[in-house]
Amino acid sequence: MSAVPDGKKLVRSPSGLRMVPENGAFSSPFSLAEPQWVPDKEHHCRRCGRCFCDKCCSKKVALPRMCFVDPVRQCGECSLVSQKELDFYDKQLKVLTAGGTFLVTLGFSDKSETMMCRLSNNHRYLFLDGESHFEVELSRISTMQVLTETEGLTPGGGVFRATGMLLHYKPPGSQDFQQLRLEAADDKKSASSWLVAMHKTTLRFLYSTLTLCYTAVFGEGTEVTFASPSPPSLVLLAPHQSVSSDVEVRLVCLAQGFRPDGVTLSWSDNGNAVAGSEVQTSSSQRQSDFTFIQTSTLKLNPERWNSGRTYTCHLNHPALSAPLSQSTSAEKCS
Ligand SMILES: [Zn+2]
Ligand SMILES: [Zn+2]
Repeated sequence: MSAVPDGKKLVRSPSGLRMVPENGAFSSPFSLAEPQWVPDKEHHCRRCGRCFCDKCCSKKVALPRMCFVDPVRQCGECSLVSQKELDFYDKQLKVLTAGGTFLVTLGFSDKSETMMCRLSNNHRYLFLDGESHFEVELSRISTMQVLTETEGLTPGGGVFRATGMLLHYKPPGSQDFQQLRLEAADDKKSASSWLVAMHKTTLRFLYSTLTLCYTAVFGEGTEVTFASPSPPSLVLLAPHQSVSSDVEVRLVCLAQGFRPDGVTLSWSDNGNAVAGSEVQTSSSQRQSDFTFIQTSTLKLNPERWNSGRTYTCHLNHPALSAPLSQSTSAEKCS
């Protein structure tokens, strides 16, 4: 038995019967809140809460994301979206909650154990059951790599079968990443469909809640790296004072600690944008904690620097609420 609350209860809402988690904090990450509406003579779409005439709101479609037991009335627009989601619920999520058998290796141990891996009924945890039991919260997973083997090669490409999965996650209360390796045991075919479903579900889960960086390595597996967004900090490195006339001055702007990849670094000289060969921006580098660093260097001849002009580095990133900047200038020695 798991320590994670996974129980459900039946509740009656104005729209119909709903089977909801006993503990709201453990609802499915895919769940949607019911829209606010007051029952009256008109018809309401149960999904968007808007008012419609009978004709425009006549379709009854299952809506598992709001935990409805039976199909509920939805407008044309919403019923299309709900139909598409049903596919995801019927295929991927069913495969995942049914589970698959894998050879599980924790960390870099040389011992592995045959375990049943399944997604919890509330879709928040990966349960692993063998002689021991443990669980991984999906939101704690930072990287996922699907391991594949080639099944057949054609001139245009190949057919790859998922044979395993490498996960990195941060256990509660830990600052370090733990590695988990799943390898298909006996039933390779059902293990493969479980892995593919897991991959798709994780993508969907993270698209809705977190930012995703995606790198596909064709033929060697697919690496998916994701983590919650983190804004960069800015450090500007510059000489403190005037320099002698034979030294090239380099101002270095360092953006660090950001996630996902993708900062904008630019320079200005007394407020005017600087572009051209004097600016050199490196490509970003991923750090072991899955954040990135990137630098931009502004090269100046000593006369330009010594003239006391103000040089500013500007930094922007999606996780910043406002762009960052830092300025420097040669201090005049009195
Ligand atoms: Zn609607
Ligand atoms: Zn109408």
